[in-house]
Parts: sequence; structure tokens; C-alpha cells
Amino acid sequence: MKPRTVLTIAGSDSGAGAGIQADLKTFAALGAYGTSVLTAVTAQSTRGVDAVLPLPPQTVRDQMDSVLGDFDVRAVKSGMLGTPAVADAVAEAARAGRLPHLVVDPVLVATSGHRLGVVEAVERLLPYAEVATPNCAEAAALTGGPVGTVEEMVAAAEALAARGPAFVVVTGGDVDADGESVDVLSGGGTTRLLRAPRVDTRHNHGTGCSFSAAVAVRLAAGDAVPVAVAAAKEYVTRALTGARTWELGAGRGPLDH
Ligand code: PLP
Repeated sequence: MKPRTVLTIAGSDSGAGAGIQADLKTFAALGAYGTSVLTAVTAQSTRGVDAVLPLPPQTVRDQMDSVLGDFDVRAVKSGMLGTPAVADAVAEAARAGRLPHLVVDPVLVATSGHRLGVVEAVERLLPYAEVATPNCAEAAALTGGPVGTVEEMVAAAEALAARGPAFVVVTGGDVDADGESVDVLSGGGTTRLLRAPRVDTRHNHGTGCSFSAAVAVRLAAGDAVPVAVAAAKEYVTRALTGARTWELGAGRGPLDH
């Protein structure tokens, strides 16, 4: 038997709420075998990011070579890239066709305010994305904003989809749309809204990472993008709901995978 293999290219979160750790938990919860390429090491807890060490681009290349040279990777997600040089290394692999079903989570700034990436780095990878998954702040940074209402999310998703990715989903967990969490998916000539009940909890750290990781698992399983995105939204809603009564750390806690 051959477990379905997926890869995350992202940063480490020592508190294990976001980044590589959230991705690997999501992969395992959804029945995939997760492999990982680290781009950066962050010192981080539920209270926020204390320090960031980006890894050298060659170290990222070496990890990609090791994993892609051995495993039959079916889908890939990228998260925090850290530096433009690391983004170039990942974009190089994408350009060479080595990163199938690439989901790009354009990580720029942690909710705590710490910078985790730069727009120029994300832009290098965007054209190779089958799906890009910015939240509202990231969509605003990439388009010149503002992105704070569902109408603005629609405009941003359509503008970003015109810049290379096959699909863009702007996630709206931070926008309260009448008690719902609304995501906007644009691509394939249409734009649609995906709705879920809003889950109010301080345990929401790593929501974007977990969402994009779940999309990658479903793409690896052969789902079409709109089906994969809907399944990922359901997964994140479930993981947020599961953690609603958790008491982990003093700040924004992790999801219940
Ligand atoms: N730390 C790392 C390593 C990440 O990849 C991310 C992902 O977005 C974050 C922190 C930010 O998570 P949040 O915005 O939930 O604080």
C-alpha cells in the first residue's frame, strides 16, 4: 500500500500552532503522508513571534532534492518563504515542473505583527500556483488593498487570479459577515462565495496554514479545485470548533486537528 504523499515548504513554529507543524498535523488528520522542507525557523508561542532565522536557499534546495528525489509527491503547499532568495529557489523548482498541484499560501505578516515574508518573494511564486490562498491582509498587500468587505474580497480574488494562479481563494475568517465566515474563490472563469458558520475562539492560530495544507491533500486525492477548497473550509471549521474550549498558552492557541 502506498500512502498519498504531500509536501509542505514552510517555516517552523516552535509553538506548533502554525507553519510546518500545523501542516503536518493537517496532513496526518486527513490521511496523507506529510513531508517537509523548512525555509525558516521561528521562535514562537501562542503570544507571538519572538525571533526568525531564515535558512540559506541552498539548504532549501537540498531538502527539496532529498524529498522529491525519493517520494512520489502528489501535491505541494508553500507557506512562509522568508526571503526572496528562498522564494527563487522554490520558484525554480516550480518552473521545472517538480512541484505538482502547488498551493501557495502567501504568508507575509503574523497576526502578532511580525514580518514573515515580503511581497516580492510571494510574487515570484504566484504564477506557478494552482491555488493561492491569501487572507484579507495578504490580499490587500498583494493588490494594494483595501480588502475588508466581501465586495473587496471579490475584487481582490479576481485581480490576483489574473496574475497567474489558476485559482485564488481569499479567506475571510477575519471578516464577520453576519455571523458567517465567507471565502471568495475565483478561477476557471467564475467567482463564487463559500460560507461557513463563524467560530469565535482565541484558538485560531495557524488557520491559514491548516487551510492551505488541507487544500493540498484534497488536490493530491484528485479533487477539482472548488471541491478541494470546500472540503478544506469544512476541515478548518471542524478544527476551530474542536479547539473552542481549549486552554493552551496565554495568547492565540492552535487548532484541534
Ligand atoms: N508562523 C509561521 C511559521 C507561519 O507559517 C505562519 C503562517 O501564516 C504564521 C506564523 C502566522 O500565523 P498566524 O497569522 O495565525 O499568527
